[in-house]
Amino acid sequence: MSTQPVFDIGVLCRYDCPGPRYTSYPTAPQFREDFGEEQLRRWAWRSNIQISPRPISLYVHVPYCFSPCFYCGCNRTISRDPARGEHYVERLLQELRLVAPLFDTRREVMQLHLGGGTPNFLSPTQLSRLLAALADGFRLSGVAERDFSIELDPRHRGAHEYIGEAYLMMNDLAKAEAHLAALEKICLIPCEEYDDLKKAIGEYRRKAAK
Ligand code: SF4
Repeated sequence: MSTQPVFDIGVLCRYDCPGPRYTSYPTAPQFREDFGEEQLRRWAWRSNIQISPRPISLYVHVPYCFSPCFYCGCNRTISRDPARGEHYVERLLQELRLVAPLFDTRREVMQLHLGGGTPNFLSPTQLSRLLAALADGFRLSGVAERDFSIELDPRHRGAHEYIGEAYLMMNDLAKAEAHLAALEKICLIPCEEYDDLKKAIGEYRRKAAK
């Protein structure tokens, strides 16, 4: 297998421009004491009643990392306690239940970013619950041009599982299998991430064969 990185020229051209540093979003100067629930409701309502309401962008912050990187300037807490992830997901779901109904369900979510911290601090089950709740509360776009992304710490096995599953969603079986092969090397088999990606590839193959 080639070890050369593969660059997608379309993606490079698309992002070859200055952009905001999104690791804390909204950025710190945009947090204001005088913007509370009432203002949020009013702005959401106003955005719904535009003649052509804009698509929705969502950012979900997962503020935990397993270990520190010394160059890091992100808003994160170092922890190895999975219970913190569980507690945090509960809070996120609660926030979702409050915020999602403020937005017109005809508006599609075209941009979704899971950042942190390290979103793969959450277990696959916790992440699935979070994504299911997002899909339940909002109308997630299915078009190819949507921008759905997740920050992953590549030092952890979950990164290979998630990236492999993302490649399956993009119908790139070969790349998904490359991540399965990577997991086979780094997992002490059996491991949950290897099993889950293998199962997803099996299901993909079964559907493709029909
Ligand atoms: S994984 Fe990212 S957020 Fe976490 S410490 Fe390293 S650079 Fe910071």
